[in-house]
Amino acid sequence: MNLTERDKQHIWHPLTQHKLHPEAKPIVKAKGALLFDEEGKTYVDAVSSWYTAMYGHCNDYIVERVHRQMQQLDQIIFSGFTHEPAIELSEKLMAILPDNQQKLMFNDNGSTSTEIGIKMALQYHHNKGQTRKTLLAFEEGFHGDTFGAMSVSGLSVYNGPFEEFFIDVKRIPLPTAANQEELIKAIEAFHAETPLAGFIYEPLVQGAAGMKMYQAAHLEPILQKCKELGIILIADEVMTGFGKTGSFFASDFIEVKPDVICLSKALTAGLVPMGVTTCTQAIFDAFYDDDIGKGLFHAHTYSANPIACATAIAALDLLQSEEIQQNIKQIQSWHAAFASEIVEHLKVHSTRQQGTIFALELDVPMERYGNLRYQIYERCMAEGVYLRPLGSTIYILAPFVTTQEQMQKVYAAIKKVLDSF
Ligand SMILES: *Cc1c(COP(=O)(O)O)cnc(C)c1O
Repeated sequence: MNLTERDKQHIWHPLTQHKLHPEAKPIVKAKGALLFDEEGKTYVDAVSSWYTAMYGHCNDYIVERVHRQMQQLDQIIFSGFTHEPAIELSEKLMAILPDNQQKLMFNDNGSTSTEIGIKMALQYHHNKGQTRKTLLAFEEGFHGDTFGAMSVSGLSVYNGPFEEFFIDVKRIPLPTAANQEELIKAIEAFHAETPLAGFIYEPLVQGAAGMKMYQAAHLEPILQKCKELGIILIADEVMTGFGKTGSFFASDFIEVKPDVICLSKALTAGLVPMGVTTCTQAIFDAFYDDDIGKGLFHAHTYSANPIACATAIAALDLLQSEEIQQNIKQIQSWHAAFASEIVEHLKVHSTRQQGTIFALELDVPMERYGNLRYQIYERCMAEGVYLRPLGSTIYILAPFVTTQEQMQKVYAAIKKVLDSF
């Protein structure tokens, strides 16, 4: 039996309707921006394996650091114990996060990081003796697949079957110049009806919605209004974090700083899973009490796993290196040049870009997981490029180490596919 056959025996894949898509493609090796299949054919990983492997796969520097950590300390319960990798990582993160961030809680992935953010907001008000049980979120946001995270995500095939079990959530559309005042009135009305505990948002770019982008200037007054009403601001930077938007964090572009920030994905550079939820001193202080019940009694077995911490430290070293910062600038200019060229294509409705995140909207009607999407995927794979279109959006979020030649291959594949319709 080959790998695909063996896979089919026992494995249930994520986001997969197995009846429609019974076969998974084996990848046997990854290096830099490239994935290798069984026949040795290579594919440019133009989505950085779900926005994680930003410094390239199997990065030598990271692997070496992690290997050293593996020989020193592998795992230790983080309740009652501490260790240097966790401490060093906390210091390094705080040095680049928005200034108002002070404390952090380690966890396992993006969903747990937002789940903790939601719990911080809810229990913050609970600890202060206020009844605030409702959250505010954007209509098409995505915050993960656990129950709290699903509740605040936009309704879709992902979370539809669980709707009746959700936390109470009010949803608003993305802010524009035209709807700003309306949104502020809506927030005031929601808050008068049922006090809002927190507002969770993906700053500037909504990843799973199809790299939907919106402006800081339009978000600013919404965040300001939430602050006034004592609504905890939870920035979900699981996708936008660590350089992709052209700054360390998308929140850097926004004046009103979040109370809570959720991180994962590129945090550990595609090597091992980890999440981190950071917060202000004021949030932490609301849990700091002689009453044990006011603490945040949330734990994950692998919280602050030393190997994951070592990975994240190495990743931060790279992010802050001259080389990666240069690469980020280069990719932005390559994308801008490609945008001005491809926007003229008959099948392209529009393009958009935030830092190294590039997206183009097709002028072709398409379902999110419809046939056309699979055709585009298949044709790009035939060209040696791995892209994962979302609905009528084709986006590129390639590793920072992607070479110019590799990026040209991605652009050429997109052009060729568009020409073939
Ligand atoms: C991917 C993602 C999550 C969920 O992260 P997982 O590690 O898949 O649980 C949450 N929020 C955003 C913005 C994401 O892109």
